[in-house]
Amino acid sequence: MNNIVAIVGRPNVGKSTFFNRLIKRREAIVDSVSGVTRDRNYGKSEWNGKEFSVIDTGGYIKGSDDIFEGEIRRQVELAIDEADAIIFVVDVEEGITPMDAEVAKLLRKVTKPILLAVNKVDNAMREKDAIEFYNLGLGEYFTIASISGSGTGELLDKLVEVLPELPEVSEDEEQLPRFCVVGRPNAGKSSFINALIGEDRFVVTDIAGTTRDSIDTRYNRFGFEFNLVDTAGIRRKAKVKEDLEFYSVMRSVRAIEHSDVCILLIDATRGFEGQDQSIFWLAEKNRKGVIILVNKWDLVEKDTMSTRDYEAKIREELQPFTDVPIIFTSAITKQRLLKALEETVKVYENRKQRIPTSKFNDFMLKLIEAYPPPALKGKYVKIKYCMQLPTPTPQFVFFANLPQYVKEPYKRFLENKIRENWDFSGVPIDIYIREK
Ligand code: GDP
Repeated sequence: MNNIVAIVGRPNVGKSTFFNRLIKRREAIVDSVSGVTRDRNYGKSEWNGKEFSVIDTGGYIKGSDDIFEGEIRRQVELAIDEADAIIFVVDVEEGITPMDAEVAKLLRKVTKPILLAVNKVDNAMREKDAIEFYNLGLGEYFTIASISGSGTGELLDKLVEVLPELPEVSEDEEQLPRFCVVGRPNAGKSSFINALIGEDRFVVTDIAGTTRDSIDTRYNRFGFEFNLVDTAGIRRKAKVKEDLEFYSVMRSVRAIEHSDVCILLIDATRGFEGQDQSIFWLAEKNRKGVIILVNKWDLVEKDTMSTRDYEAKIREELQPFTDVPIIFTSAITKQRLLKALEETVKVYENRKQRIPTSKFNDFMLKLIEAYPPPALKGKYVKIKYCMQLPTPTPQFVFFANLPQYVKEPYKRFLENKIRENWDFSGVPIDIYIREK
């Protein structure tokens, strides 16, 4: 599990530039593997060997100060709630604006680590100008220039130093599947959990976290034992009804990162929209299992929309990762709740399966012989050996004489064949081509 760092501040102070600098190197790696990045406001970063997740709250809102003042305030409040540390970015060119002062006021009450970054400090003169930011009452500040990266090293040194130690996951917990229920506000998450779990009498244990409320709760339902991540959070939190992408993402990050399989609830009466997609890609990016429940199915007129049409429409949006279970449920009539749980467990097992190397070679090498990678510049690519790596999520490596000649479409072909022959439904797969 990672610490979560939120970047806050008003528009145009340079939050996104700073964010991109933080995640750059790692993003590039992710990019070359999956070929796609969808969410530019969430990523992983690493400094001095410590990995953490970063959310750029500003990435979700564009515009001038006045229109969004209330909005920024709510973002900061949410960041305070959900993040382990906050980087507050201000702009030396502008000096302290009324909104900076507002944000600082909120942050001063917080006991979590707050780092004040004074951005656009690219000369000695501005270094002097930065002194005024002491008036924000947040103590020491870091002068940085996001564009060049100067000063960011000192800031990051401090950040990783003050990030809290996360509770250790015990071995016992480690062995149980961890599921989380995610989705936009009002999709029916609480109703689903209540319908599935019922009263608290089903709670076996409650593992207390150190700094926050317990994140895992153990259940035993229909013969399945599992941990439900952050259920307490869903139940406890004052309901956020604002239906903005940022809220769902912010509220889902920790639960998703901590889970094996994410149960994504969507509201059947609304369809699979931007926010649902963001959460889906968050799970995919973290290489978690995913299952989609089209909830409130009882409210949909069956003659206007069949499950088949509905499902096809969702799958279009999932491209290229379309091999995902989609189930039509109702938390109110309890339709297909057991099926949903069974499928979730199946996804968990799919994600853990290990294909014996000999079997994998038998199948794949025959296939590759029949459908070899296309020759490039008169050169033939030969793949002689392949295997599944012993990694927590399914990764496959193919050894070739000319790995750089194997392009994305062929990798996708290999992935599709793996999926046809073995059940990896709901599970992101990585394919690597390496030199032999
Ligand atoms: P959450 O914000 O995702 O936790 O959503 P809630 O569980 O609070 O549900 C929001 C509203 O939708 C409540 O009024 C629920 O009664 C209603 N609801 C949830 N699931 C269903 C369902 O499957 N069918 C119908 N008809 N209503 C539902």
